[in-house]
Amino acid sequence: MKIRNAGVIALLSAGALTLSACGGGDEPTEPAAGDTGDTGTSETTDAPEFPEGSTMAELAEAGEITIGTKFDQPLFGLQGPNGVPEGFDVEIGRLIASELGIPEDGINWVETISSNREPFIESGQVDIVVATYTINDARKEIISFAGPYYEAGQSILTLTSTEDIQGPDDLAGKRVCTVSGSTPEQNLLENYPEAEVVAFGAYSDCLDPLRNGQVDAVSTDNVILAGFAADNDDLQVVGEPFTEEPYGIGLAKDDTDFRMWINDVLEQSYEDGTWTEAWEATAGTVLPTPEPPAVDRY
Ligand code: GLU
Repeated sequence: MKIRNAGVIALLSAGALTLSACGGGDEPTEPAAGDTGDTGTSETTDAPEFPEGSTMAELAEAGEITIGTKFDQPLFGLQGPNGVPEGFDVEIGRLIASELGIPEDGINWVETISSNREPFIESGQVDIVVATYTINDARKEIISFAGPYYEAGQSILTLTSTEDIQGPDDLAGKRVCTVSGSTPEQNLLENYPEAEVVAFGAYSDCLDPLRNGQVDAVSTDNVILAGFAADNDDLQVVGEPFTEEPYGIGLAKDDTDFRMWINDVLEQSYEDGTWTEAWEATAGTVLPTPEPPAVDRY
């Protein structure tokens, strides 16, 4: 698979993607030319207002938010040359920060890997996690999820020279690389016991073992694998997705006001085109643009 629109990626990495929904007002209020600073009676303030004591109010007041995301996954969360990650998850994180009135330099990006997402949320090391993070009941015992904002599905990556792996049933007797603490790992262990699972800390750790022949395939969400295949001519995604992986935004358990507010932000971004704009500038350079999924206000 080839990257079809390198220009968009260049634009994105230059930080040119501006999310239109900032501040919450319909139209941003510009000061009139020659404005002397006399604000008079006009209601020009764009700062969002939140219920006292809410997480939104605390974050907005601090002007800072710490967001956990992946740093090694092209299209969703990949650390750029300046250290700041880029991708669709990153844009979803930016959208939330923007709606809190937090400026770009108030976002503290922290790398989360699959196995430390719940602990990082529980301990307060991050305020939210946007990291190809599947919503499921086991995780909901520990944290809460806004969303979903995207629906992925587990798939398989092989070398382009591999012909005998076309779907999960072909993994019997094969060494399959995935990541500890991920849903694909769990699915392989539970439902494909004849596959020999090799689990690392991050999906990028699987690529050298695949090329060296230490493993025969890599398995995780189709969109993560598509990002690797887009960047590497020797890799291919095979078969159809064989699970459902609805991506949610992880936050502290039972912070219902914050969860519902993020759901509102997502729904607004579906309506005003911000979600599509973010998709098309990132993952959409390689993948088709889907309809955004309905949020689940459980
Ligand atoms: N979406 C799956 C999960 O949350 C796999 C991708 C990942 O490990 O980030 O476990």
